[in-house]
Amino acid sequence: MDFSTPPELQDLLQRAGAFMEAEVYPLEDAARESFEDALEACNEARERCKAAGLWAPQMPPEYGGMGLGFLPHAHMSEILGRSPLGHYVFGCQAPDAGNMEILHKFGTAEQQDRWLRPLAAGQIRSCFSMTEPGRAGSNPTWMDTTAVRDGNEWVINGRKWFTSGGHLADFAIVMAVTSPDTTPHKRASQIIVPTDTPGFRHVRRLSIMGDLGYGWQSHSEIAYEDCRVPVDNLLGQEGFGFMIAQERLGPGRIHHCMRWLGICERAFDMMCARASERLIAPGRPLGSQQVIQHWIAESRAEIDSARLLVYQAAWKIDREGTRAARNEISAIKFHAAGVLQRVIDRAIQVHGGLGMTDDTPLSWFFRHERAARIYDGPDEVHKTVLARTILKKYGIELGSQGS
Ligand SMILES: Cc1cc2nc3c(=O)[nH]c(=O)nc-3n(C[C@H](O)[C@H](O)[C@H](O)COP(=O)(O)OP(=O)(O)OC[C@H]3O[C@@H](n4cnc5c(N)ncnc54)[C@H](O)[C@@H]3O)c2cc1C
Repeated sequence: MDFSTPPELQDLLQRAGAFMEAEVYPLEDAARESFEDALEACNEARERCKAAGLWAPQMPPEYGGMGLGFLPHAHMSEILGRSPLGHYVFGCQAPDAGNMEILHKFGTAEQQDRWLRPLAAGQIRSCFSMTEPGRAGSNPTWMDTTAVRDGNEWVINGRKWFTSGGHLADFAIVMAVTSPDTTPHKRASQIIVPTDTPGFRHVRRLSIMGDLGYGWQSHSEIAYEDCRVPVDNLLGQEGFGFMIAQERLGPGRIHHCMRWLGICERAFDMMCARASERLIAPGRPLGSQQVIQHWIAESRAEIDSARLLVYQAAWKIDREGTRAARNEISAIKFHAAGVLQRVIDRAIQVHGGLGMTDDTPLSWFFRHERAARIYDGPDEVHKTVLARTILKKYGIELGSQGS
């Protein structure tokens, strides 16, 4: 395995890093105060990002993107992850990036023209509505939202929450049960729902540890009430909802992990800088204390080992596909999320009271990235997946819920 970065990619990563310094970090203070008020400046930075040839790294040039492959984009993701605004300014933010990917892979030419083109250009926004308040999201085969065919239309009914970016989005891709009597993994389909469709009701933004967010930077509860869309809005084939969701989630987890490593590096830099600048007595920096040195050393080792594990998973996906790499993907999902949480926590501790304020990005990371251990499969589910495969070799066969 050779995980070295090719020289042409190094150059690109340097350009992306320089753009982050010049255009993205300076927006953070205002965005932390109010993303709504900072939106215009963020959108202006997006235009400069396009002009610099750094827009939509994951999308092919025919959609205005850079056409980076899976691994180069993963490297970019780490650079962009250093700021909560990086992916947004570069046009590859979740959940739009995942929706672009599935529209590109499974959308019809009409769907691509109507939804993918403006989405990739950053002219509209989207969301992905799968999780429901009344059902355990960790078992997504069990959901109550239905889409029933009536003539040339789907009639959708159900309630979703944690639809990220649902506030002021232009369309949703909703997972709904279309064939209730078939096997669990073939029951649901994905359907495109413009948010101005009668029956699409934005119920509320969910407050995340005190932060309501706004627009792209928020999570919504949505009610689908006799919401009718044309049958042509089906994405891919009927009953293929889970297959499409898996296509989206596997590589998506690599990008999340790389984004988290970017956050880790930023928090690590801040921790080291604070440890050397902050004096606990005249001439005695905080970093002279052994306990702080240990946090720094542990963080360095944990970040580097997580990165190697992520590269290894990406390497396997590249060669053998997402399915073959599912154990590696499960391992990085819970491991990198744990490293992320520990590194941010240590950085806050080193900053003392300052770490608790919103004067640095650490509090934002702490509040919003705690969810890394929950979304795209909670830690416990991924650990079960991995342990199940390991135990199989020792003669124990376990079901999908570990039973
Ligand atoms: C910030 C954020 C953004 C999100 N964005 C989206 C989005 O855009 N679209 C969308 O559809 N969803 C989204 N989600 C929802 C997310 O996918 C779900 O929260 C996740 O799948 C877990 O489902 P749940 O919340 O219903 O928890 P539950 O399924 O109720 O699980 C609760 C807890 O039980 C434990 N648990 C669950 N199953 C097992 C098991 N088999 N073994 C042992 N322990 C278990 C875990 O500790 C888990 O955290 C988002 C969530 C968050 C927090």
